[in-house]
Amino acid sequence: MTDLHWMSALELADALDAKDVSSREITEALVARGDALEERLGTFLHRTSERALEEADAADARRSAGEAKSRFDGIPVAYKDLFVTKGVPTTSGSKILKGFVPPYDATVVARSDAAGLPMLGKTNMDEFAMGSSTENSGYQKTRNPWDTERVPGGSSGGSAAAVAAGMTPWAWGTDTGGSIRQPASLCSLVGVKPTYGYVSRYGMIAFASSLDQAGPLTRTVADAAALLEIAAGHDAMDSTSIRDERPALLDGIDGGIEGLRIGVVKEFVGGGSDGVRAVTDEAYARLEKLGATLVEVSLPSFQHGIPAYYLVAPAECSSNLARFDGVRYGARVEADDIIKMTSRTRSEGFGAEVKRRIMLGTYALSAGYYDAYYGKAQKVRTLITQDLAKAYEKVDLIATPSSPTTAFKIGERTDDPLAMYLSDIFTVPVNLAGNAGISVPAGLAPDDGLPVGLQLIAKSLDEPTMFKAAYAFEQDLGFATSPEGRASI
Ligand code: GLN
Repeated sequence: MTDLHWMSALELADALDAKDVSSREITEALVARGDALEERLGTFLHRTSERALEEADAADARRSAGEAKSRFDGIPVAYKDLFVTKGVPTTSGSKILKGFVPPYDATVVARSDAAGLPMLGKTNMDEFAMGSSTENSGYQKTRNPWDTERVPGGSSGGSAAAVAAGMTPWAWGTDTGGSIRQPASLCSLVGVKPTYGYVSRYGMIAFASSLDQAGPLTRTVADAAALLEIAAGHDAMDSTSIRDERPALLDGIDGGIEGLRIGVVKEFVGGGSDGVRAVTDEAYARLEKLGATLVEVSLPSFQHGIPAYYLVAPAECSSNLARFDGVRYGARVEADDIIKMTSRTRSEGFGAEVKRRIMLGTYALSAGYYDAYYGKAQKVRTLITQDLAKAYEKVDLIATPSSPTTAFKIGERTDDPLAMYLSDIFTVPVNLAGNAGISVPAGLAPDDGLPVGLQLIAKSLDEPTMFKAAYAFEQDLGFATSPEGRASI
């Protein structure tokens, strides 16, 4: 049998079902893998190994009694540290939330728990999910298991590194402008940003509420479908949660892409680094070989995605982060009066990038500037949505690279926020339009040997088509996504 830590969740589920292995054995293997690699990779902010083992024993007991909570009962999972977890410290990567222990579970956590998934811990992230490298964490850097001198991407970099290193088969991340798909691309994983409203945001510490979505990071497309199915569905606790039924994802995932029309974006041809371009060109040819028809589509407004995003997201964050005042949650820096206390708590508690965003957002929303900045960005958002809607008249899915480059060196972009922001050039428009996107491993770049991801974008609620295409692509490529055997880990 393959090492337990490299098995997919579906393989583990079959092994559990066949009684070849117990949840305790799986969980012990993953905890041991974590013990061996955590110091080098810095993936977790808080590990809950003891709890995971107890939950594994409970899962084993349920299985022997014929009362498994789900097909995946007993398969552990990790959560980005912005999902609140009852009784387990939650910081959103920020010092301002040091010591905060939430009194309730996010819906994603409650539903994963209801399916029987033991919790391995909370993963590192850019502070409040603002960043593309996980270097903005208030606590530690996370290293890319493919090359430990490089970033894993971000902001869900801890979740991505943990899955890529075999510390968990799957993990939850969140994506506001690319924070699941970009780290998936940089770590050779599958990462999904579902349709806005597909998964409940209840209990996710908010960054930009009109853009935030939770989604899976996994090593296989089928595992991503399975984890998404566990938590998706309407939730009365999130007013933006979609009421429609979520169609099955795992069932029928092998339906193929014969006859599908896939858009290749005219404005993006030639975009990205040489290595990314070479791999994505090959990926497009593979989709065609598998029976899809490639159709050129034009998305002229996409070039305004980054500027529009950097008005809308900071505007929403400046409002959302007003609640961190030293009174209600986490850290407090004492002072003589409440104004000074709040101001000192915020000055010391927030990192530089978070402060930059709060200032940008406050400015964009201020009287006299609102129409010129925030109002204009909202109009661009509408144009992007319309451009995509027009493209879907001609195609079923749109293909792009997930990230314009492969994993960059730690420190390479920290002094240049604009270079960092450009990491999300291909992913941001999808959040602005509320559509679905997946990043699927496409191979290694010929120039630097690092992973490249292919992004497939689908119209809202067309996740089934997106998963079918990603699955067909993955199966045909047959690329091993584990970095096992490489010098770095
Ligand atoms: N990198 C983008 C940002 O810094 C997107 C982050 C995200 O999706 N959470 O805002």
